[in-house]
Amino acid sequence: MGKILVVEDERDIRSMLGFALSRAGFETIEAETSKQAWGQLNEVKPDLILMDWMLPDGSGIEMIRHLKSDRDMSSIPVIMLTARTQEEDRIRGLNVGAEDYVCKPFSPRELLARVNAVLRRNTLSHQSENRLELGQLVLDADCHTVTIEGSDVKLGATEFRLLQFLMEHPERVYSREMLLNKVWGRNKYVEERTVDVHVLRLRRALEPWGYNQAIQTVRSVGYRFVSDFVRG
Ligand code: CA
Repeated sequence: MGKILVVEDERDIRSMLGFALSRAGFETIEAETSKQAWGQLNEVKPDLILMDWMLPDGSGIEMIRHLKSDRDMSSIPVIMLTARTQEEDRIRGLNVGAEDYVCKPFSPRELLARVNAVLRRNTLSHQSENRLELGQLVLDADCHTVTIEGSDVKLGATEFRLLQFLMEHPERVYSREMLLNKVWGRNKYVEERTVDVHVLRLRRALEPWGYNQAIQTVRSVGYRFVSDFVRG
């Protein structure tokens, strides 16, 4: 299974993580500071990084920003570990490129679920870019069609782009601001609540087949497309 770099200065949390991850079959590499973490990253490329928010020699956010601007490292998914409960901090982390976050205190089970989801998402994004599938939901970017169980799903142009973006980036929380940047483009002035309007339309279009449930609302943050959603 995968290698996970744990960057965390609190020994108790580090050992709890090491224990839980190795029991789940992961190999863990540990670092107490961002300096140590960079040292580890020169030696080995992990499949995922768990990054504490507050490190003795700087903030995890700074480290994520550097990672995501490094060509060799930017593809490594990062989950933030944060004690902060303020949504602004979480959104800041997501905006610099973290894939997800877990708030302390967390249970090993919760953490493993997020780790597995993020790793699954990375595997899925390696599928063909022109054809995206989730169960019976198929989006074909070349033909500009969406079908569920073979039936056409009629979507407006914005809903189509939104669904395409979400299917290309499953398991990751996106704030409304990020969705605006990614789906609408930075240059346009659009209010954040516009995102909600289009998410609502998209959900309505998918609802007859139950696929509306694949688009989760993450309270006070934004939206997440869940790839392990399978219609019951
Ligand atoms: Ca810390």
